[in-house]
Amino acid sequence: MSNITIHKTTAPKAKPDQSKLGFGKIFSDHMFLMDYTAGKGWHDARIVPYGPISLDPSAMVFHYAQEIFEGLKAYRRADGGIQLFRPWANIQRMKNSCERLCIPVLDDDLYLEALTELVKLDADWIPTEPDTSLYIRPFIIATEPHVGVHASSSYIFCIITSPVGAYYAEGLNPVKIYVESRDVRAVKGGMGYAKTGGNYAASLRAGEIAGQKGYSQVLWLDGAERKYIEEVGSMNVFFKIDGEVVTPPLAGSILPGVTRDSCIKILESWGYTVSQRPLSAEELFDAAAAGKLEEAWGSGTAAVISPIGQIAWGDKQETVCGGKIGEVTQKLYDYLTGIQWGRIEDPFGWIYKIS
Ligand SMILES: *Cc1c(COP(=O)(O)O)cnc(C)c1O
Repeated sequence: MSNITIHKTTAPKAKPDQSKLGFGKIFSDHMFLMDYTAGKGWHDARIVPYGPISLDPSAMVFHYAQEIFEGLKAYRRADGGIQLFRPWANIQRMKNSCERLCIPVLDDDLYLEALTELVKLDADWIPTEPDTSLYIRPFIIATEPHVGVHASSSYIFCIITSPVGAYYAEGLNPVKIYVESRDVRAVKGGMGYAKTGGNYAASLRAGEIAGQKGYSQVLWLDGAERKYIEEVGSMNVFFKIDGEVVTPPLAGSILPGVTRDSCIKILESWGYTVSQRPLSAEELFDAAAAGKLEEAWGSGTAAVISPIGQIAWGDKQETVCGGKIGEVTQKLYDYLTGIQWGRIEDPFGWIYKIS
C-alpha cells in the first residue's frame, strides 16, 4: 500500500522532439511534493501535475538560502525497461546535506518510493534515443515566513523530472579549462560537501568570466592555501599522471560525486591504482610540462565523463593528450554509460530496475 497520493494531470503536454532536448529546459507532466511542519514531521506525500509553487515572499529560502538538491537519472534500456543508477547514494548524500543545513531528514524508503512512482507515472517522458535520459531533480526548500536567521520550521520536498539529451550537444569533445585564482567555491568547514545552491551562487562569477574568455569550466583551488586542485566547474576531477590516476580527496570542501565514486571503483576493478590525494596546481603543470600528464577528465551525473583537452594557469598553457580524448577516459565513459543504459552487465549492484 503506497503512502503517496496521486493526482494525475488532465492536460498532458505534448512530448518534445528527442533530437532537440538540450539539458534541463523541458519538464514532464508531474512532480512529487511533501511538506514538513514542526511537530508534524514530513507529511502529505503526493504526486501532482507539474506547476508553480506559491510561497510567501518572506519564505526563508529566499533570504538565507536554506536549500539543498540532488541530481540523478532514469535510463531507458533497449528492452524498454527503466532503471536508476545508484539511487541509494543520492538518498544518503541528501541526508548529509540535510544535516549540514539543519533540514529534517527524509525517510529512505519513502524517498525511493517517491522516485519510483514519479518515474513510473511519467515513464512516457523517458526518451529512447541514444544518450538521452530523464534527469531527476529532488530538492528541499525552507518555507517558514520569517525574516530572521534560524533554521526554518517548515519545508517543501519536491522532485521534478526533465527529459535530457547528451549534456554537450557537440558530443564527447575535450574541453578547455583554467585555474581560477580569485574566487573559491567552498572551504573546509563550509558547505562544499553538501549539494546546496549557495555553493553554486559562489561559483557563478568565475564561471561567467571563464565563458567570456573562451573556457568551458574553471578548475577550482582550495580556499585556504589556493594551492590544491579541488573540482572542475560542478564536476569532480581526475588526472592520469605517469600511469597514476589521481583525484582530490574528500576532505570537506569537495562534493562526493556518485560518478566520482563509480569511476574509482571501476578503475580499481580494472587494476588501476587510484590515489585520492592532494594535487597542487604546481605539480599538475610541472607534470604536464614534462609530458607526464596523460589524461584528464571531469565526472558528474549530467555529463557523465567530460574529457579535458587543455588547461591554463596564469600565462601557462598545456594541452592534454594532444587535445583528444584519452584511452582510459573513453573506456570509462563507454563502460559507465554501458551500465547506466543497461547495455552491459552491472557487476557492482548499482542498477535499480523500476521495470
Ligand atoms: C553534483 C556535483 C558533482 C557530481 O556529483 P555526481 O553525484 O557525480 O553527479 C560534483 N561537484 C559538485 C559541486 C556537484 O554539485
